Amino acid sequence: MKIMKFGGTSVGKPERMHQVKDLITRDSEKKIVVLSALSGTTNALVGIGEALAEANKDLAKERIDILHEHYLKFYKDLLKTETARVKAEKIIKEHFEFLNIILKISFNEAINRDILAQGELLSTKLFYTLLQELDIPAVFLPALDFMSIDENSEPELKKIAEKVKAILANYPNDRIFVTQGYICKNHRNEVDNLKRGGSDYSASLIGAAVNAEVVEIWTDIDGMHNNDPRVVDKTRPIAQLSFDEAAELAYFGAKILHPASIWPAQMYNIPVKLLNTMEPEAAGTTITAKEQGTGVKALAAKDGITAIKIKSSRMLLAYGFLRKVFEVFEKYKTSIDMITTSEVAVSVTIDDLSHLEDIVKELEAYGIVEIDNNQTIISVVGNMIAESRGTLAKIMNSLADFPVRMVSYGGSRHNVSLLVDAKYKNDALKSLNNGLFEW
Ligand code: ADP
Ligand code: ASP
Ligand code: MG
Repeated sequence: MKIMKFGGTSVGKPERMHQVKDLITRDSEKKIVVLSALSGTTNALVGIGEALAEANKDLAKERIDILHEHYLKFYKDLLKTETARVKAEKIIKEHFEFLNIILKISFNEAINRDILAQGELLSTKLFYTLLQELDIPAVFLPALDFMSIDENSEPELKKIAEKVKAILANYPNDRIFVTQGYICKNHRNEVDNLKRGGSDYSASLIGAAVNAEVVEIWTDIDGMHNNDPRVVDKTRPIAQLSFDEAAELAYFGAKILHPASIWPAQMYNIPVKLLNTMEPEAAGTTITAKEQGTGVKALAAKDGITAIKIKSSRMLLAYGFLRKVFEVFEKYKTSIDMITTSEVAVSVTIDDLSHLEDIVKELEAYGIVEIDNNQTIISVVGNMIAESRGTLAKIMNSLADFPVRMVSYGGSRHNVSLLVDAKYKNDALKSLNNGLFEW
C-alpha cells in the first residue's frame, strides 16, 4: 500500500485533476489518495469565516458567491458526460447550500471549522466523480470516519489505525481509495482540522496507520529545496534528507511540508517522497532514516516569533529556576522553540501568542521580563553541522551585517538556529545562500 497526497495546486485546475488521475493509475499498486482543497479554496473559506466573525454577512455572502462561481466553472471543465455533470452539480449545490445556511445561523468556532472543511470535501467528491466518469474503480473513504484528534489537538494514531484498517478490510479487492487531507473530528466529535497545510500530516498519519511502503507528497515543486524559493532566486532540490533533517526544516518553516508531518512516517520508518505533479519524472526528495553527507543541506525560516527574556541576577543560578520558568509555559500550553541562557538571563521564543499577557504576568514574579515581537527563526539544517570544518564561521560571516538576537546549537547535530528581526529575514536568507552553498 502506498499513500499519494496531492496538494492544492495539484488539484487546483481541471487539467491538473486529470494529471492526478494519470498519476494514480500508472501502476496497479494499492494506494490511498489524499487530496487537499483546490488551491485558493481554504483561503477563501478562511475569509468567509472572518467576515462572519465580524458579523459582516454581506461580505460573507459576496465571498461565498465568488467561490460558488469558481466551482460552477470548474466542474464543467472537469467532466464531460451528462451523468457526471449532474452528480457534480448536486455535490456543489449541497456544499454551497450549507454555506448559505450558515449565513442565517449564529456563528461560532465550531461552525467556522465546519466551513473550513468544505474545501477538502468538495475536491475529493469532484475527483471521485471524475474517476466514476472514466470507469476507474475506486472507493471513497470519508476522513471524518477515521481521522481524529484528542483534547490537546494531537492525532489519535492508535484509534486512527484501528478504524482505517477496519474500513479497508471491507474492500479487499479494491486498489484505489480516495480521502480528504486536513479534516478530522475532535474529542467533542465536532469537525476539526490539522491546521493549515495539514493534508501532508493526514498523509503521513494514514501512512503510519496502514504501515505504507511509502508516503508520496505530490506538490508544485520538485522536492525540498535548499532555501525558500519564494525568497531566494537561486535554489536547488535536495535529493536525500534524513527524517530528522526534514522534520527540522518542516518545523522551522519550509512550507512544502506541514510542521508535524514527519514524525508519523519516522515512527514506522516509512520513506517520504516529495514529488512534482507538474514534472512527475523529476527525482524530487527522498526522506528516510539514513543520514547522508555532512554539512549544511538547507535553510528555512519561521516567521511570527516572539522572544521573551527573563532577567534575574538573584535567581538564575539557583536550581529550580528554569523549572519555574518552564512551568509557566506548560500551564498555558505554549511550546518553546529556542532557548538560550546566560548567567543572568534566559531567553526563549514562542510562536503561539494567545497567552502572552498571562505568561508575562507570571514570569514577572521571577525577574524582569522583556519582549521582542516580529522575530524570525532562521534554521540552518544539515548533518553534523558543527563538525564540518568552517561551517559555523561561514554562518556567522554571512550574518555579519545583521543583528542576531539569539543563537542556538547543540540541541541536535542537525540544526543551528538564529533569531533575527523579521525585517532582516529575506536579506539574511540571501546572504546565507551565497555564503553556505557553492553555485
Ligand atoms: P501544496 O499545496 O502542494 O501542499 P504548498 O504550497 O503547501 O503546496 O508547498 C509547496 C510550496 O512550498 C512551494 O511552491 C514553495 O513555494 C514553498 N516552499 C517553501 N520553502 C520551500 C523549500 N525549502 N523547498 C521547496 N518548496 C518550498
Ligand atoms: N487545504 C488546507 C490548507 O490550505 C490543507 C492543505 O492544503 O494541506 O491549508
Ligand atoms: Mg501544503
